[in-house]
Amino acid sequence: MTTMFNIATFHGDGIGPEIMVPTVKILRQMADASDDYALTFTDTPAGAAHYAKTGDALPETSMQIARSSDAILLSAMGLPDVRYDDGTEISPQIDLRKALTLFAGVRPVTVRAGQHTPLRMPPGHQIDFVLIRESTEGLFHTQGRGEVTKDEARETLLITRDISEKLFRFAFDLAKTRKDAGRGKGRVTCVDKANVFRAFAFFREMFDAEAANHPDINADHAYVDATALWMVQKPWDFDVMVTENMFGDILSDLGAGLMGGLGLAPSADIGLDHAVFQPCHGSAPDIAGQGLANPFAMILSAAMMLDWLGIKHANAAMRTDGTRLREAVEAVVASGDILTRDLGGIYGTDDAAGAVLDALSIA
Ligand code: ATP
Ligand code: MG
Repeated sequence: MTTMFNIATFHGDGIGPEIMVPTVKILRQMADASDDYALTFTDTPAGAAHYAKTGDALPETSMQIARSSDAILLSAMGLPDVRYDDGTEISPQIDLRKALTLFAGVRPVTVRAGQHTPLRMPPGHQIDFVLIRESTEGLFHTQGRGEVTKDEARETLLITRDISEKLFRFAFDLAKTRKDAGRGKGRVTCVDKANVFRAFAFFREMFDAEAANHPDINADHAYVDATALWMVQKPWDFDVMVTENMFGDILSDLGAGLMGGLGLAPSADIGLDHAVFQPCHGSAPDIAGQGLANPFAMILSAAMMLDWLGIKHANAAMRTDGTRLREAVEAVVASGDILTRDLGGIYGTDDAAGAVLDALSIA
């Protein structure tokens, strides 16, 4: 039976459309070759250029398309010289995160053979962990609303039972999915600062309670400062890491650094009903319009989307295609033949995306 999924596509700004178009082309070809699922795509206007044109960065009609879709694929958004009147950045992805309660920011960090990394990797090791960043509260709770007087500034750290329980359930489910797929180590690490802050002792309490429901998964704790050290010294030891919003913000950039930059870093923001998939990098206005953008982070985000839909709707073919797509990108990177300039190659966006299609060898 063919199940139909509707994908809301935000083409975004700068290189956004340039990497979205070949990504949708790949997804279409995979879906067309499958008897088990079909995909439709609805282009959804939003972003900085749209704001400059219409005065609205995320129109209500686009919000509605996003809300009623099965998944949201979002390309890079924002432009340096287009801002709201109060000077803040235009980032509809953050509005979506709030409006759809996407509490789990999922940042996979992988370094495989052939991939550039600033670390010296011991033979036989590879990096393959997932950092989950709580994305709706924590130290971002008073974001933009902190209290500042002449002599004092205050922001609030908010940890709630409700969001923490959902977050940890998600983390343990992900560890189990990874373990069952033969990929993970069956480990979840709670990253916090429970030795100093009562809020993080509370965070840990909910983590430990969820851990008790998963005797098959190893649960442990780590302080955020030590975690930063270990992410550099022995990142191959991690499997699933789960942390507060600000800690996750910082550690996910460290993770991107391990991967040799943003060109291969996908991400997902996941809630109970909705999810947004997007590359970690920005809209790269310096190279926009030249066909030079690296599409791999966008394509890897699309692979995460297939994986998530496949798990949510128990569609094994979709999950298989998610894995195939990720492995196709990894194979192109490992061979090193057709890479964009940011990865040391000489090729453009369409060549790189074409190499992924070839690696998929869709009949
Ligand atoms: P944002 O604030 O939106 O995250 P940023 O200022 O961090 O944006 P990016 O837009 O991510 O910056 O770009 C940083 C650098 O990386 C730029 O030189 C850009 O050209 C390069 N870059 C980013 N994404 C890509 C990509 N997909 N392919 C090639 N180069 C990229
Ligand atoms: Mg940035």
